[in-house]
Amino acid sequence: MRLLRQLELGFRDTDILSVVAGVGDPGAAVSPESFRAVYSKHQDVDLEEKARELLRTNGACRIAMEIRVEWNARLKTCAGRADYSCKLISLNPRLCDHGATEIDRTLRHEIAHLLAHFRAGHRRILPHGIEWQQACRDLGVADEERCHNLPFPVCERVRRYLYKCPNCQCEFPRVRRARRAVACLECCRAHNGGEFDARFRLRLVSIR
Ligand SMILES: [Zn+2]
Ligand SMILES: [Zn+2]
Repeated sequence: MRLLRQLELGFRDTDILSVVAGVGDPGAAVSPESFRAVYSKHQDVDLEEKARELLRTNGACRIAMEIRVEWNARLKTCAGRADYSCKLISLNPRLCDHGATEIDRTLRHEIAHLLAHFRAGHRRILPHGIEWQQACRDLGVADEERCHNLPFPVCERVRRYLYKCPNCQCEFPRVRRARRAVACLECCRAHNGGEFDARFRLRLVSIR
């Protein structure tokens, strides 16, 4: 049996498998049509303008030109995501239930990822390392936490299995035991161009 490798996001919820590389069960494949039907996305020009302004005032004019901000229902319980290569910030529509402050904070958290990346150039940085922390200070969210702590309702299913990234130490509670090699998406992005990297394979640290 060939190994299906997965990369996982480190926010609160780990049922979000962001990148799946390799070959898996063909029955699990989702057609592009149904994918589009389930995961609606839409652009937010007002937030884009805000992001552009924040990047500009922090000296990142080049990426300010390219930035896009979208609402993406695919994020489920993950609050936001920043993709530097696409200059794209995705926000969870469920943030709208938590008011403008929470939206603004999440937007700035994600902009900080882009700003830190921009400033670092080709130098590799940790997703929530000192460069990101500095960017947060510059963007007015100095006390931003590394992993989002949003008031999203927690899934009722008990997450018995706690996994941890050996590199960034982010925790990944899971309902089920991982049957495949799963790695931390943020670390794979930061150090291996977003490809699966066994160095960041999640380790099971506890079962309750
Ligand atoms: Zn982050
Ligand atoms: Zn990690």
